[in-house]
Amino acid sequence: QAKTEGRGRVCVFEPSMDEALRQRQTLETDLREALELHRLELHYQPLIDMKTNIVSGFEALVRWNDPVRGQVPPGKFIPIAEEVGLIEEIGTWVLNEACREVAGWPNGVKVAVNVSSYQIRSGNMVRRVREALDASGLAPHRLELEITESVLLIDSAATIRTLHEIRDLGVRIAMDDFGTGYSSLSYLRAFPFDKVKIDQSFVADLGNTAEANAIIRAIAGLSSELGMTTTAEGIETEDQLRYIRAHGCTQAQGFLTGRPVPAKEARIYAAGEVETLHAVLEHMREAE
Ligand code: C2E
Ligand code: MG
Ligand code: MG
Ligand code: MG
Repeated sequence: QAKTEGRGRVCVFEPSMDEALRQRQTLETDLREALELHRLELHYQPLIDMKTNIVSGFEALVRWNDPVRGQVPPGKFIPIAEEVGLIEEIGTWVLNEACREVAGWPNGVKVAVNVSSYQIRSGNMVRRVREALDASGLAPHRLELEITESVLLIDSAATIRTLHEIRDLGVRIAMDDFGTGYSSLSYLRAFPFDKVKIDQSFVADLGNTAEANAIIRAIAGLSSELGMTTTAEGIETEDQLRYIRAHGCTQAQGFLTGRPVPAKEARIYAAGEVETLHAVLEHMREAE
C-alpha cells in the first residue's frame, strides 16, 4: 500500500544521532569560516527612553549571513560557539565592532552588547573592554554589557570582581532576560547592575494574565528602589507600550518601536529621523 510505504520512507529520512552530530560539525566548520571571511554582521535594535520618547541607545545583535544557509539567528549558533570554544573570538569581534560602529553615531547614543558567561569567566574580559574602548574612542558611559543569569551561578566571587572592574571603567552593566531561568532576587543585591531587562515572556503575557502585569509592576518598582533602571523587552503592541510606560519602566525595546536593523539604518534612527517611531508615539499621544 502506498500509504504505509510513504510513512516508512519518512522514517528513513529522520536524522539519526550520527546525522545530527554531522550537521553540528558542518555548522562548526562553517562558523569558523564565517568568522574568517567576515560573514558576521551586527544589527541594532533601538531602545526608547520612556520619559523623552527618543532613541537613547541600541542593542547590538549578531547575525551570520551564510551563502547557503541564509541568515542564521544567534540562538542557533551562539550555543555551538560556546561549546566548541569559538565564543571568545566571536564575542571580542562583536564588542569591537559595536564600539567602532556606534562611536561615530549622532547624539551620543549608547550601545548594549550581549556577553556570554564564557567571556566573563575567561579572565580577559576587563582587558578586552578597555581595548575596545581605546581602539574605538567610544566614551565608556556609552557602552553597556548585557549578561544573563546563567553567568551569575558560576564562581560568583570572581564574577563579582570582574563586573566591578568593568564598572570601574565607567561601563554600565545590565541583567538580561530577568525573570527567566534561575533568577533570584538576591542577585540584584549581590551583583552591581545598573539596569534590569524584563524578559519578553512577561511582556507577551501582559493583559492575558494578572500575574504578568503584577510581575512587571513589581520588577519596575523594586529596580527603581534599588537604584536601577528597567527595560521592557519584546514590546509589540501599543497596549504593552502604554502599560510599561504607566508603570515605571525606563525604556522600551521591541518590534513596535523598531526591529533590529543594519548599522546604516540604525544610524538614521540615532539621528532622530525615524518616521515610524514618531508615527507610533504621535498616534499614542492623540489616543491618550
Ligand atoms: P536577547 O539579548 O534577549 O535579545 C533580544 C532578542 O529578542 C533578539 O533576538 C531580538 O531580535 C528579539 N526581539 C526584540 N524585540 C522583539 C519583539 O518585539 N518580539 C519578539 N518576538 N522578539 C523580539 P535575536 O537577535 O534572535 O537574539 C537572540 C539572543 O541571542 C539574544 O537575546 C542574545 O541572548 C543572543 N545574542 C544575540 N547577539 C549576541 C551576541 O553578540 N553575543 C552573545 N553572547 N549573544 C548574543
Ligand atoms: Mg540582550
Ligand atoms: Mg533579553
Ligand atoms: Mg532573550
